[in-house]
Amino acid sequence: MSGHLAVVGIGPGDARWLTLEAQAALEAAEALYGYGPYLDRVPARPGQARHASDNREEMHRAADALGHAAQGARVAVVSGGDPGVFAMAAAICEAIENGPPPWRALDVTIIPGISAMLAVAARAGAPLGHDFCALSLSDNLKSWDVIERRLEAAADAGFVIAFYNPVSRARPWQLASAFERLRRRLPGTTPVIFGRAVGRVEETVTVTSLDVADAATADMATLVIVGSRATRVIARPGRPLVYTPRAATEASA
Ligand code: SAH
Repeated sequence: MSGHLAVVGIGPGDARWLTLEAQAALEAAEALYGYGPYLDRVPARPGQARHASDNREEMHRAADALGHAAQGARVAVVSGGDPGVFAMAAAICEAIENGPPPWRALDVTIIPGISAMLAVAARAGAPLGHDFCALSLSDNLKSWDVIERRLEAAADAGFVIAFYNPVSRARPWQLASAFERLRRRLPGTTPVIFGRAVGRVEETVTVTSLDVADAATADMATLVIVGSRATRVIARPGRPLVYTPRAATEASA
């Protein structure tokens, strides 16, 4: 079988954050599949078919792309950030596991990209400099109970937490509720970073603290990082530097 499927991470926005490997895979593809706004970031190429779909249609998109590759085509599925982080690579794996046997014989390549948490962390300093975890606040695919349990366990265990999908039109209250829970477990001085549309023209990065962090600062294009007890803020002209020291102490754990 000659079909080929690449799942390509295009990073959070800045064209300079597209890897050479990702660029080559996008150029080589006969057909691109992806969420419309991600596809819009890929320059049009003559002869290349583009199949845009809604961001809720991941399984349809995965099946369409795999079906197309199974006909012998060279297909690329485009993902924002890294395709393995709350994105298309897992959807493709789910579709292969549950799909027709020929899909298992396809040549599948996952091409990594810069994930939003790495881009936001870089803007702020080094908040992910010690142990951290990533949590999606979307309750489309898991219950809010599970989310609450995980965020409390992560805060108690001393992890810095990167929150993906902090709010959406269908979920206006979750981030405020998450902050409320964290306030019961972490000091009010714990640093909180809001990174919005990082790497794009409309980028904003705000550093605040847990006691005054306002969930209304975040939208769908925002990644929120909540520090651990060890995370520190270095005041300086302009935006402060936020970092988590490399060594854990008993007091900060
Ligand atoms: N695969 C992507 C994440 C997809 S989930 C990655 O690795 O980055 C979508 C969420 O990612 C958004 O709700 C937001 O929390 C975050 N995100 C994506 N692009 C971003 C950007 N440019 N700036 C800040 N957050 C971003």
